Amino acid sequence: MLDINILSLIYLIASVTFIIGLKMLSHPASARKGNLVAAFGMGLAIIGTIFLYRDDNGNKLHNYAWIFSGLLVGGIIGTLSAKKVKMTAMPEMVSLFNGMGGACAALISMIEFGHFAKMGYLDTIVQSYEAGEVVQDAILTRPVPIETLLTIFAGLVIGTVSFAGSMIAWGKLNGKIKDFSFKGQHIVNLVLFTAVLALSAYLIVIVATVEPRPDPNIDVIVPKQLGSAPLILFYLTFALAIVYGIFFVMPIGGADMPVVISLLNSFTGVAAACGGFLYDNNVMLTGGILVGAAGTLLTILMCKAMNRSLKNVLIGSFGAKNTAGGGGGSKDQGAYKEITLSDAAVLMSYANKVMIVPGYGLAVAQAQHACHELEKLLESKGVTVKYAIHPVAGRMPGHMNVLLAEADVSYDKLEEMEQANEEFPTTDVVLILGANDVVNPAAKTDPSSPIYGMPILDVELAKNVIVNKRSMKPGYAGIENDLFFQPKTSMLFGDAKKVLQDLISEIKNL
Ligand code: NDP
Repeated sequence: MLDINILSLIYLIASVTFIIGLKMLSHPASARKGNLVAAFGMGLAIIGTIFLYRDDNGNKLHNYAWIFSGLLVGGIIGTLSAKKVKMTAMPEMVSLFNGMGGACAALISMIEFGHFAKMGYLDTIVQSYEAGEVVQDAILTRPVPIETLLTIFAGLVIGTVSFAGSMIAWGKLNGKIKDFSFKGQHIVNLVLFTAVLALSAYLIVIVATVEPRPDPNIDVIVPKQLGSAPLILFYLTFALAIVYGIFFVMPIGGADMPVVISLLNSFTGVAAACGGFLYDNNVMLTGGILVGAAGTLLTILMCKAMNRSLKNVLIGSFGAKNTAGGGGGSKDQGAYKEITLSDAAVLMSYANKVMIVPGYGLAVAQAQHACHELEKLLESKGVTVKYAIHPVAGRMPGHMNVLLAEADVSYDKLEEMEQANEEFPTTDVVLILGANDVVNPAAKTDPSSPIYGMPILDVELAKNVIVNKRSMKPGYAGIENDLFFQPKTSMLFGDAKKVLQDLISEIKNL
């Protein structure tokens, strides 16, 4: 009893650390500590569960060898991969880990459903009757409560879709999987989804309503036998949910990926919360609900940032819009002009205000520290320097904030899109570092573009625009960028880190 009370207290402490951690994660300055606080709470909850958990009959966990082997293997793989991962591969890793969370929730559902099958609830339901009275162990025919079945199936379906979808997102983010769709795919998706729901509903009904059927002729009867069919149908539901998860994410590409990533994140949270319901485990429930709620809010924010409704992202991606590389890419864009390092150095040194627009290329080049150095150098010359942050710049929500925080860039210097757009008309130089889609005017002017409708940073309102990238290649959405050909724009080719280091030397020599 004491153990259970201590465990409840541990769960309460862990839940509070999750909430505090989440709050701290919302600010770059406290994000690292927030992560540690929540991780500490999770560690505490795991240790507490392992040593203090008791089941309804007062039994402790006994399979310690399996538990600690799993913890060891998972801990080593997680630590090594997190230490080794490059900053540019971070979004992929987040997707992979999110998928693992979904898979865990689905596995919990599988194990619990199989568990019921083993206990006789599903395989063979046998009951003896004598003169209409039940005489045999009643537990054999006690139907599984409907709420338990609902939770099992919610965990299975949501967890599996999150797992399969996250694996596809992982492949898309590292470039191994390309957007793919076929004619009528949304109908196939609809059929798959309906089949998953229908099978789940059927299984819930037949398992929850198992009842002995007395035989009027004899006293001892074998009532309804479910056999192994429910288990087979259960695995079929799982397989269809995997296919649905793959088909669901496969066609969504370009500018809509951030929304899908945060949506999958919220799915994993909800699936984990189902596990919490199933085991009556408060900390799992709280953790799952927090992730689910945070993911849902992020999805809404991402939709807003992309100026898309969720329906539009999920259904609108089928057909014309998934032709990344199509919209705006084919017309002749004329010539672009280049700027030398020394001219760029002079332009920025004598400016009143410089706005830096970081993008995915900055992360690829690992140029955040050089970028901060340039900012400090320009500030020492009396130039006001700020950063314009687009909500989907980079490859994961908050990517640029994390990147710049790593280089100790002050949070006050970061301007969100709306704020930055108001400042561009009074800006002398915009320095774009490895950003492309987030400054592409096709989002405003070309209805055939896959990013059409997405709000962008209106850099062309500034007096001068310098674009640093390595070539004229397109960005994530695979489309050309008219901005590079506009009269105000000058290209400064090269790897962002090298270019920034050279710029710093040039400015120092002025
Ligand atoms: P983009 O992917 O549009 O463009 C990045 C640019 O960086 C490329 O054009 C590339 O050009 C350049 N680049 C690459 N490496 C370097 C380097 N070493 N030095 C200098 N430049 C380099 O990035 P944005 O940040 O503008 O846009 C993000 C895109 O990613 C959006 O389409 C968004 O929808 C999508 N996305 C965002 C997610 C999120 O959550 N934030 C998630 C998934 C997708 P070049 O090769 O010529 O150097």
